[in-house]
Amino acid sequence: MSRGKVLVVGGGIAGLSTAWALARRGFAVELFEQGALPYARASSYDEHRIIRHAYGDMEGYAYLMPSAFRVWEALWAAIGATHYDAMPVIYLMRGESEWYETTRRSMGRMGVACEDIPIEAAMALYPMVNPDGVTRVVRTEGAGILYPIRILTDLVKLIAGLGVVLHPDTRVEAVDLEAGLVRTGGGVVGGDAVVVTAGAWVNRLVPSTIGEAVPSRQAVMFLAPPPRFAAAWQAAPVLIDLGAESGTYTLPPRAATRLKIGDHQFTRRGDPDEDRVGTDADVARLTEAARRAWQDFDEYTVLERKACFYTVTADERFLVRREGARGWLGSACSGHGFKLGPLIGDGIAGAIAGERTEAAVSVWAAGR
Ligand SMILES: Cc1cc2nc3c(=O)[nH]c(=O)nc-3n(C[C@H](O)[C@H](O)[C@H](O)COP(=O)(O)OP(=O)(O)OC[C@H]3O[C@@H](n4cnc5c(N)ncnc54)[C@H](O)[C@@H]3O)c2cc1C
Repeated sequence: MSRGKVLVVGGGIAGLSTAWALARRGFAVELFEQGALPYARASSYDEHRIIRHAYGDMEGYAYLMPSAFRVWEALWAAIGATHYDAMPVIYLMRGESEWYETTRRSMGRMGVACEDIPIEAAMALYPMVNPDGVTRVVRTEGAGILYPIRILTDLVKLIAGLGVVLHPDTRVEAVDLEAGLVRTGGGVVGGDAVVVTAGAWVNRLVPSTIGEAVPSRQAVMFLAPPPRFAAAWQAAPVLIDLGAESGTYTLPPRAATRLKIGDHQFTRRGDPDEDRVGTDADVARLTEAARRAWQDFDEYTVLERKACFYTVTADERFLVRREGARGWLGSACSGHGFKLGPLIGDGIAGAIAGERTEAAVSVWAAGR
């Protein structure tokens, strides 16, 4: 028997996960997505995303990771497939940073391995890394690669099978979060609650987020390595370069994915409806950082320069809160929203079901 009807706006990892969690709890759910399901312009749509316990000074999120992994396990069981490869994350530090001490502390408390490895041994294992200026190499476990395109596709099929009514190619023009209404080109739909998980488009539907959740155009590059590094990349774990001037993350070419490099410097500019082909300006800073992180970067073939978007808050924390009498906002802010998407979606559904208070879920989702 239905516990009420909830309308979910947005079919990225946050919206699909919230819909799944609501359907599991017996709610009738309708989900609206402006593009296809899944949609290639969503932040969530990519070949890979990193999942890890290591969180630096955002320690509250580190302590959420065991629960996050449990929800992923539940998803694998529900879809009958595992779209995840466990592997270490290797941090190449170029200079000291507070990240090291706080990460070691939280990893130690959770009993997740986090250990220094000798620089020379690391350079022998990872000959494609630029050794210049490396001061410390740290290997962490409790991590790996999630495969988002496969995850989103299976989540869509899963929730459709649970009776969630899907509205692909249906842009929501406006929401009334007091009355619980969603307006599309086809008319107005009402529900007991409306959850807005609209990613980088959130400002258009929820004006209170303007200036708080800022869309940020980010660049990534997919590459083919020169033949002499191909085998090393194929066997590589996730590599994260931590330096004042570098700051890149690299995903190895596993499971039919391509080698990818990105950085973590927010542009805080752009419109998510813009063209998504990375321009020279988009990739200029990333290219410089990649040259510092890898050996002979200019010998790599750039297969794709991609521009993508997420929202950024000042402190990089999720925004989960009530908006109006019947509305909920779920906004993953900055580059760590995929790994936590199913857990946060479960938290939003739990709050709607009355299992926890709004205040409790907001603080929890902010990793505090
Ligand atoms: C380059 C890059 C690297 C990243 N790396 C990582 C990582 O390694 N690990 C990690 O955990 N996270 C990472 N992230 C962050 C993560 O991908 C995002 O935080 C997460 O996917 C956001 O999910 P979402 O569902 O909130 O937003 P989205 O995936 O953008 O979904 C929002 C959906 O809402 C739809 N929508 C918007 N407005 C409307 C409307 N009016 N009507 C109907 N539909 C609408 C959109 O079309 C979209 O499909 C990365 C992000 C990027 C861009």
